[in-house]
Amino acid sequence: MYIDSHCHLFYEDFRDDLPEVIRRAEEAGVKAFIVPATDHRTAAEAVRLSERFPNLFVAVGIHPLDLQHYSDENLRTVESFIGHPKVVAVGEIGIDYFYDRSPRDLQQEAFARQLELAAAHDLPVIVHTRDSVEDAVCIATDAARRRPEWRTGGWRGVFHCFTGDAAAAETLFAHRFMVSFPGPVTFKTSSMPEVLKRIGLEHIMVETDAPFLTPVPFRGTRNEPMHIPLIARKIAEVLGVEPAEVERRTTANAVALFRLPIPL
Ligand SMILES: [Zn+2]
Ligand SMILES: [Zn+2]
Repeated sequence: MYIDSHCHLFYEDFRDDLPEVIRRAEEAGVKAFIVPATDHRTAAEAVRLSERFPNLFVAVGIHPLDLQHYSDENLRTVESFIGHPKVVAVGEIGIDYFYDRSPRDLQQEAFARQLELAAAHDLPVIVHTRDSVEDAVCIATDAARRRPEWRTGGWRGVFHCFTGDAAAAETLFAHRFMVSFPGPVTFKTSSMPEVLKRIGLEHIMVETDAPFLTPVPFRGTRNEPMHIPLIARKIAEVLGVEPAEVERRTTANAVALFRLPIPL
């Protein structure tokens, strides 16, 4: 059994055929889905979807590219979903210097504030970074240090679509954050195989980030959770282990991080 630790199934792209998408994923062995919202409205949509599909779980938060919706009121709306039985994380939150759509100090403030929200509710976070791994690692580990009671002995979150180096990953592991890898790990140009060889399997997860980041050989088409095994197979090849081992480890990690009510 695989878990897609990050897929945006509330997107328009899936409006017409979501039950099919979920069925195809399940046939491919992908049995659970973590769906991170990007603002207060998509949080409501994602929660509604989670009420329709038993193995669909949700993260709520305001994405760094959606900070036009960042306000006290919208943050209160986001917070109001915490406590719903299918809400398992705060996310996605983080920093994006590639598109730089909002001032950097505002991005950092929104990120720090939502880390605080996660700590207050003892939930893990799903962190988005782009050209910002260093600053995001700094802010997240600082939050972890200031909040020692936040998931002590457990996990505090994941840096998704991880693109940092092995040293950044090791720093995150030390502060009880995992990292996850999407389709681009299958691209010829990816530097992630080298990073994977150094950090190994222990603290990683797999994700599609659907509908984006379709893996080889389906580039150019809509991405779906059914492609998770392609990513796992590539990671297995890089590490010289059986795909079943990648499957077991990444699934156990997702169940532990999000405290999913799924028997292993
Ligand atoms: Zn992201
Ligand atoms: Zn995402």
